[in-house]
This record gives sequence, C-alpha cells and structure tokens, in this order.
Amino acid sequence: MISGPSGAGKTSICNALLEQLSAAEWSVSVTTRPPRGDERDGEAYRFISAEEFQRLIGEDRLLEHAEYLGNRYGTPAEPVRAAMEAGRIVIMEIDVQGGAQVAQRVPESIRVFVLPPTMDTLKARLAGRKTESDALQAKRIAEADGEIAFARNSGHYTHFITNDILKNSVDQVIEIIERETNA
Ligand code: 5GP
Repeated sequence: MISGPSGAGKTSICNALLEQLSAAEWSVSVTTRPPRGDERDGEAYRFISAEEFQRLIGEDRLLEHAEYLGNRYGTPAEPVRAAMEAGRIVIMEIDVQGGAQVAQRVPESIRVFVLPPTMDTLKARLAGRKTESDALQAKRIAEADGEIAFARNSGHYTHFITNDILKNSVDQVIEIIERETNA
C-alpha cells in the first residue's frame, strides 16, 4: 500500500512496480471524482456515482474508504481478497485515512509513505500536470502538510521514502517488498 501527498510521485512508483514485479496486481479503486485528463474508466479508477458508492458501503464491499477534497474514494474488498489468496502482491494507492483502515484490517500489509524531496518539488510536479485548475492544485498542496504530519504521527506506516530520483525510489520499494515477503 502506497500513500503520500498529491504530487509526491505515488502513481509513477506504482506503475513501475506493476511493470517490474510479475506477482504485482493493481487494486482498482472506486471514486466519485470525475475523470482527469485521459483517465479511462476501469484503469486507475472505476468512476461511480455518489449513490453507488453509498450502496457499496452499505453492502460492506469496501475494504476501506475516505473522502478527499469533497470526493469519495474506496478499495473494493473482493478483488483484494481474491488476489491475496492467490498469493499475488496487491498494489494500492490510497490516502492516509484509508491507510489507517488498512493498517487495522490487514495488519500484515506493507505500508509505504512517499514524501516529496521538498514542498517546492511538490508544487512544481502538480503544476506540471496541467489537468487541474490552479485552485484545485492549491487545495492539494494545502492538504499535503496535514497528510505528512498524520502519516508520521499515526504509526500506521511501516516505511517512509523520499521520492527524489524515481528509479531509486522504485528500487527501494521493491527491496522492501522482497524483504517483507521473502519473495
Ligand atoms: P487523486 O484524485 O489524485 O487520484 O487521488 C486523491 C487522493 O485519494 C490520493 O491521496 C490517492 O492516493 C487517494 N486515493 C485513491 N484511491 C483511493 C482509495 O481507494 N481509497 C482511499 N482511501 N484513498 C484513495
């Protein structure tokens, strides 16, 4: 499970893990946020209505869920359970509230928090995305300090890495996974 502020580089790390680890499987989250840029339904996310999201909660079909900047995000439980039973490594990219729930419900999970090298890097990476308004980017930056503080104080994360050079970060996460799973 990977968490970190928006712009820290979580998605790039997850994509590299999926390419490099044959046993890795992506957990497709559901979200009520609209697609960004060229995001397609069923890839990074399944885009669903608020009503459907609420129904999934009511049916206890989410392993965890959270609200971030007015939108809801959650991890469907069944695919995670099936993949774990099949001995696969499930890669989840979720926020710190979800991270706390996974820490409780799946205590054996590896929980990595990705930090940006500096706050300026974070801002530059978000600005480079060009798929969101300046106001939305500012909100994501404003969230970052709180997320980092929460992650550090919560004790829910097993590892912290600073994502400066992507390849080094990916190598570090792979090393952690191999060590923890004896892969
Ligand atoms: P974004 O809108 O940038 O795709 O995601 C916003 C935040 O929601 C990020 O911190 C991302 O990691 C988190 N997120 C994505 N999917 C999930 C999920 O299934 N559960 C939770 N709790 N957070 C998620």
